[in-house]
Amino acid sequence: MLGVVAQFVAKGRSVNGIPMETALSMRVSPVIGLRFPEHPDRGGMAHQHIGGVRTAGSLVETFDVIDPADGHVVETVDQAGPQDVDRAVAAAAAAFPEWSRATPGERSGALNRLAAILTERAEDYAQLETAQSGKPIKLTREFDVPGSIDNVSFFAGAARNLEGRASTEYDGVHTSVIRREAIGVVGSIAPWNYPLQMAMWKILPAISAGNTIVLKPAEITPLTSLLLADDVARAGIPAGVVNVLTGSGRIAGESLISHDGVRMVSFTGSTAVGQRVMETAARTVKRVHLELGGKAPFLVFDDADLEAAIQGAVAGSLINSGQDCTAATRAYIQRPLYDAFVAGVADLMRTVRLGAPADPSTDLGPLVSFKQQASVAGFVDRARAAGARIVVGGAIPGGVLAKGAYYEPTLVVDAGQQSEIVQDEIFGPVLVVLPFDSDEEGIALANDTPFGLAASAWSRDVFRCLRASREIQAGCVWLNDHIPIVSEMPHGGFKASGFGKDMSQYSFEEYTNVKHISLDITGETHKDWHRTVFGDR
Ligand code: NAD
Repeated sequence: MLGVVAQFVAKGRSVNGIPMETALSMRVSPVIGLRFPEHPDRGGMAHQHIGGVRTAGSLVETFDVIDPADGHVVETVDQAGPQDVDRAVAAAAAAFPEWSRATPGERSGALNRLAAILTERAEDYAQLETAQSGKPIKLTREFDVPGSIDNVSFFAGAARNLEGRASTEYDGVHTSVIRREAIGVVGSIAPWNYPLQMAMWKILPAISAGNTIVLKPAEITPLTSLLLADDVARAGIPAGVVNVLTGSGRIAGESLISHDGVRMVSFTGSTAVGQRVMETAARTVKRVHLELGGKAPFLVFDDADLEAAIQGAVAGSLINSGQDCTAATRAYIQRPLYDAFVAGVADLMRTVRLGAPADPSTDLGPLVSFKQQASVAGFVDRARAAGARIVVGGAIPGGVLAKGAYYEPTLVVDAGQQSEIVQDEIFGPVLVVLPFDSDEEGIALANDTPFGLAASAWSRDVFRCLRASREIQAGCVWLNDHIPIVSEMPHGGFKASGFGKDMSQYSFEEYTNVKHISLDITGETHKDWHRTVFGDR
């Protein structure tokens, strides 16, 4: 950690290689020893990263980033207002001409340098992510951070493979060429459940395709996005290509998506806010990419490997304390396996170790906030009151965990298909199990929510698996597993889970304009088609 602290030592008017708008002193963040620049005029803050400069937000209000493991303040963060959005969009617009004309090799080289820096600092990112979100350190070390670095490496390669088609003369006299062009300034808004990964999923396809970006992370988890913006600059990516604003959805978020200088909005978050984002963006006819909520079904046919399905259901529902848009939330079990599945999941869930996120042996940390804890508890309490049975958990733990935003891993049965706990996104460590009889019924139940982000089907029969993968309406269907993602493959929803793809080459469909170039190959002054205007001359 000492090496890290040294990197942050201010030299004159720059910190960590990032110039400061005013002379700044440094403060050591008490939990993890990382240093953040302090702004003397604003009580020690500079949380806006605009045009390569760390500066303070223009709003008087500040926001406390809270460690949900014990409620202490990790960092007090200044807040961006409309003026900061104006400045960030202007910085991104100014950077666009040069960045969009950089060669694919130059953009790729910068991303490779970024991957190297992140690899060197992986432990700092893991600790900061854990401190601001309550994720167990083993999850941030083994999933969030390496997954993010892999995303960077993937896009370093993908940047050199951006291509349009050079095609043929469809009418015999014009050669058609397809160009893929960067769109301009992208305004991106990210959620809190995977703060670093979501920042990556927004920034990487946008900038590797030649766009510039203004990112607003979730107000409660902005810190790793800011660290990333600093490292983007250290990697030599020009000032203004990546700008990060910390602030509320209502002020900074709305200002960004309604800004005239923003050509595309990329939003990951809840379906309710996504609808509003789309409405707002429609007023200025912006391209919109929405990655919204999920309610993933977990469909187990009666010939499935029961032990594998039990393991998969517990891991797939509890990952990141269930705060995962693809988490297994509704398990549908064909009747012959139902009782054994419920008993097996109950036994395994009871072995999951809730604890301090910093402890490497902790399986499950707190939820991201006390607000989220209250929301999850509300869903379970209402289900219980409506007649559902809580087999495991269903409570806020006491003892040493009472000071954090913890919620017990929870298994619910006997809930109706149309009940709130089956239909709505809970975003907590809660799995609901329901029985089904025929394969057709199971698939129909799996499709019976407004969402369509991800799903899994479990069977030893390849034909059943393939039928299920065809019939289930979701952007990703796992067969005999649930959760793994790879940078090479697209992630994105159907139905109320949104549209457009993150990661993979497919993400370039969102972040580029396709332009048709039509070249006359005749050289003739009098084109054949002119006779429709000039008669027979
Ligand atoms: P949220 O919708 O409450 O907030 C998401 C972001 O939107 C935050 O940065 C917030 O500040 C901002 N925001 C809020 N109101 C806004 C407004 N009016 N205008 C502009 N921005 C606004 O979601 P959350 O609680 O942060 O995250 C959880 C949600 O994200 C879940 O629904 C989850 O399923 C979804 N999610 C989806 C994916 C996916 O890939 N589909 C991935 C991760 C999370």
